[in-house]
Amino acid sequence: MTTKNLNPRSIFSQKEKEFRVYSAATMDLIEPLKRLPQADRFAMKVVAAVLPFRVNRFVIDELIDWQRVPDDPIFQLTFPQKEMLEPEDFQTMSALVKNNADDKTIRAAATRIHEKLNLHPADQTTLNVPQLDGMPLPGMQHKYDQTVLFFPSLGQTCHSFCTYCFRWPQFVGNSTLKFAAQEADHLLNYLKQQPQVTDILVTGGDPMVMKTANLARILEPLMAPEFEHIENIRIGTKALSFWPWRFLNGGDADDLIRLLERLVRSGKHVAIMAHMSHGQELLPAPVQKAIKRIQGTGALIRSQAPILGHINDSPDVWAQMWQRQVALGIIPYYMFVARDTGSRRYFEIPLVKALDIYQGAYKKVSGLGRKARGPSMSCGPGKIEVQGVTEINGEKALILRFLQARNVEWTDRPFFARYDTEASWLDDLRPAFGDKRFFFEEEYELMRNEPIAV
Ligand SMILES: *Cc1c(COP(=O)(O)O)cnc(C)c1O
Repeated sequence: MTTKNLNPRSIFSQKEKEFRVYSAATMDLIEPLKRLPQADRFAMKVVAAVLPFRVNRFVIDELIDWQRVPDDPIFQLTFPQKEMLEPEDFQTMSALVKNNADDKTIRAAATRIHEKLNLHPADQTTLNVPQLDGMPLPGMQHKYDQTVLFFPSLGQTCHSFCTYCFRWPQFVGNSTLKFAAQEADHLLNYLKQQPQVTDILVTGGDPMVMKTANLARILEPLMAPEFEHIENIRIGTKALSFWPWRFLNGGDADDLIRLLERLVRSGKHVAIMAHMSHGQELLPAPVQKAIKRIQGTGALIRSQAPILGHINDSPDVWAQMWQRQVALGIIPYYMFVARDTGSRRYFEIPLVKALDIYQGAYKKVSGLGRKARGPSMSCGPGKIEVQGVTEINGEKALILRFLQARNVEWTDRPFFARYDTEASWLDDLRPAFGDKRFFFEEEYELMRNEPIAV
């Protein structure tokens, strides 16, 4: 399989490097969309009144294969589709849009639909927020001993939105510079007091929407001796494929590259955790250039993505993506199961099928490509990997294990669920072999009733 230069265009005009983004209000200006049937475009507008829509010109021009629309995976990943809403919700919103209802009415109807979408899954809002001197720190999550997640408020948007995203309720927050400065101080003070923490994971939204100076305000101080315990710095981003110019395009990009270099030189392991859903994202020349440039700093790129219907629900897609990643020096890291939120029904894959796809892809690549763990559910009790199917005394069961757990003692302990071809999340699973509850359930319930910070 050829991996390089499949899209060898390497001379880009200055205009192509200018960030240009379209939203629901400007959807009609998207050139290739004009070729789609009127009914489809109307349906997109209806869905975009409920689910966030934002796509940039790089995604439109370089990533989507418009010959394959609507089946093109990147089109499915970024453009709203009729079936993402329940039929009754689609009807409601469709009538409002058709009758040119005013903004307020449309927003109220959208809010009622949002309420059904379980936008804060896995107790994210209460259980994982750490405290500093008795004060909760809302821009952080500290669930597993070694790793603190940081959501800088200036990074709470993305260059393009993914249609299945579970994080977009975060996209409406306090994003003033003043708030951001305070937040960085809180993070640093918290980390100082947590000597067991080795990893910081800066995430979003997408922290790469931030100016380098704002990112530096968080990361630069970590090179001081009092942060020696912070060994690994991870930055989660989709910018590598959705806006590679972030790493290439002059001033601010050069500053970013130098920041990564300084961090690496100071002895930190720096990992760009690239969200990549499909091998198609690796083909454009600027993406490959950005990859090389990041690697030139000594930072590693690791990749992760959820497995989703209409986007990457086949072994071939994952095998090809992993192969291309290995060829480009990217290390596959996680295959996630889509969370129980948002337009889940549209994207949902039963766990058994996700496992099948994972195992099918695994068989097609060499050991270097077999580095992604998964399929894994990030749920309240922890990160649970579906490992396989077994049969003991005539009963078929799923083998599961905690990759990360709210109680560290649960980590890596295998457990079993009844084989179920429909189940697509932990909540759908029942213990196998006559057990009434999973081994961790009772303790987890106690934790939930007593939401003490970490
Ligand atoms: C996934 C995750 C991490 C990181 O886990 P690793 O196994 O170290 O990759 C940290 N915190 C939370 C809340 C997570 O969901």
